[in-house]
Amino acid sequence: MTAIDELKRLSGTFFDGAQFVKSAATGGFDVVDPATEDVIGQIPDTTEAEVDAVIARANKVQREWNSQNPLTRAEALHEVATRMRKMTPVLAEMMTREMGKPYKETADEVAWSASAIDYYAEVARHDAGKVIGSAVDGQFHYTVKEPLGTVVAILPFNFPLVLFCWEAAAALAAGNSVILKPSELTTLTSLKFMECFEPLPAGLIQCVPGAGRVGQQLVSSPDTHMVAFTGGVETGQIVAKACAEQFKGCLIEASGNDPFIVMPSAPLDMAARGAAFAAYLNCGQVCTAGERFFIHESIHDAFVDAVVEQAGALRIGNGLDKVDIGPMVTEKERTRFEAVMARAQEQGAKVARGGKRPAGFNKGWYYEPTVLTDVTPDMDIMNAESFGPAMPICKVSNFDEAIELANRSKYGLGANIYTTNLGEANRAVNELEAGMVWVNAPLLDNDAGPFGGRKMSGIGRQLGAEGLDSFRHTKLAMIDPQCADQDFWWFPYKDDEACPGR
Ligand code: NDP
Repeated sequence: MTAIDELKRLSGTFFDGAQFVKSAATGGFDVVDPATEDVIGQIPDTTEAEVDAVIARANKVQREWNSQNPLTRAEALHEVATRMRKMTPVLAEMMTREMGKPYKETADEVAWSASAIDYYAEVARHDAGKVIGSAVDGQFHYTVKEPLGTVVAILPFNFPLVLFCWEAAAALAAGNSVILKPSELTTLTSLKFMECFEPLPAGLIQCVPGAGRVGQQLVSSPDTHMVAFTGGVETGQIVAKACAEQFKGCLIEASGNDPFIVMPSAPLDMAARGAAFAAYLNCGQVCTAGERFFIHESIHDAFVDAVVEQAGALRIGNGLDKVDIGPMVTEKERTRFEAVMARAQEQGAKVARGGKRPAGFNKGWYYEPTVLTDVTPDMDIMNAESFGPAMPICKVSNFDEAIELANRSKYGLGANIYTTNLGEANRAVNELEAGMVWVNAPLLDNDAGPFGGRKMSGIGRQLGAEGLDSFRHTKLAMIDPQCADQDFWWFPYKDDEACPGR
C-alpha cells in the first residue's frame, strides 16, 4: 500500500493493541498536508469508554510482559527495531505528508527510533538492581528495579517517532506497558508506527488519538502509573499538576530557547553552517533549536554575511521534493510566527534576510529562513521560544557577557558554543545553565547520554542510564538468612540504655 492509501486506511481509527479499530467518536479532525493544504485523512477524538478499555488492557498485558525474562524481552525489542528499519519508506513519506519536514529528516527519524529501541533492549538487562553493603552481620541487602506499570506518553508534532521511542524503548525494556497519545498533527504516522511493535504481546503498546481531553483522561486515570510528556510549557504544567494530585511520576520535556555563542577563534564558515542548521532544521520547530545568537563583535559582520549566504542557499518546498526546508506545520503556527517576526521588527530588529513568505507558492505554509540583526537581549524574541525559522543575532563584546546573557533565560534545555579555545570550551560546559552543552557540535543526541532540561524546560531525563531509571522503581530488600534476633535495637530495652541519672 502507498503512503496515501495508508493515510486513508488509518483515518478514524485508534490502535487497541491488536488491531486498528474504527472509533465510535462522533467528533474528529481533518489531517491537512502543510505543503499542499489538501485534506489527506481524519483522526477521531477517541471516546472515554474506548480510552478506559485501552487502559484496562494495558494493565493486564503489562503483568504478563513483566513476567518474561529481560533477555526474552530484549530479543522481541530487537525484532521491533528491525521492522522499523524495514518500514522506513512508508513511515517517512507519511510523516512528511502529515507535518511537512523533508523526507531526509523523516527517514533519519525512523533510524534514530530503531537505534533507541536496540540500545534499551540491551541496557535494560545489564542491571536489575545492585547489592549494597550490609549494615548488619550475616544479612543480605540489595535493591531491585521494577517497572512502574502503565506508562502514558504524550507527544508533540515535531519529532513524533523518535521522541516516542526515547520513552517507549526504556519503558518497554523495563517491563512497562505504554499508551501513546500522539499530537493531532502527526497521528496517522503514529498509528502506522504501531505496526512495528507487532513482535510484542498484543495490548502492550497502544495508541489513542484525539484532542487534549484524551491526554487529560490518560493522565488523571488512577490506573495509569507514569506520564512522559513532551510539549509546550503550559501544557506541561497542566500535566505536572494533574500528576501531583496522585503523586504520579512524570517526566516533563518542555520548551527551550537555546543560546548559540560564536567566539573569534571558531572557524567562521563552520560556525555559520552550524548556526544555519541549528536555526532552520525542521523549519525551526525543534525544542533544541538555536534561538538566541550571541556573536562576538570582532566577527559579527562577517558572521552575518556568512549566515545570510547560508540561509539564501536553502531550498524551500514540499518535503517530498529535493529541498532543505519544508513548510511550517499549520497555518495557525505560521500566523503565530509571523506575529513574532513583526514584533521583533517593531522593537528594533533589522531583517538581514528573509522575514517574509517565499515567492512562488500559492499553497503551503512556507516562511523564508530569516536572519535578524540589531537584536537586543530585552526584546520579546529573545525571551520566548519563537519555534520557527529565525536567527536573531545579538552582538556581544566578550565571553563573560555571552555566558551571562545566555543564562539570562527562564529556559535551560540546550546551549551551543563555537570556539576552538579550550579554556572557553571548558568554562562554557561548566557555566552554561542547560541540560546539554554542545561545543562545535550543535543539536547532537546520543542514545547513551541523558537528554532533558533545567528551569522551565522541564524535569527528568530521557536516554542513557538516567532515562531507563525514569521508568523504574527502586525497591530495597533486606534479608536475614539466619532469622536471628536483632537485640542491638529490639525490645526489651536494657536498663543501662535509659536516660542517665533517672
Ligand atoms: P503542545 O504542548 O501543544 O502539545 C503536546 C501534547 O500534549 C499534544 O499531544 C497535545 O494534544 C497534548 N495535550 C494538549 N492539552 C493537553 C492536556 N490538557 N492534557 C494532556 N495532554 C494535552 O506542544 P506542540 O505539539 O505544539 O509541540 C511544540 C512544543 O513541544 C514546543 O514548545 C517544543 O519546544 C516542545 N518540545 C519539547 C521537547 C523537549 O524534549 N524538551 C522536544 C520537542 C518539542 P493535541 O495535539 O491534541 O493538542
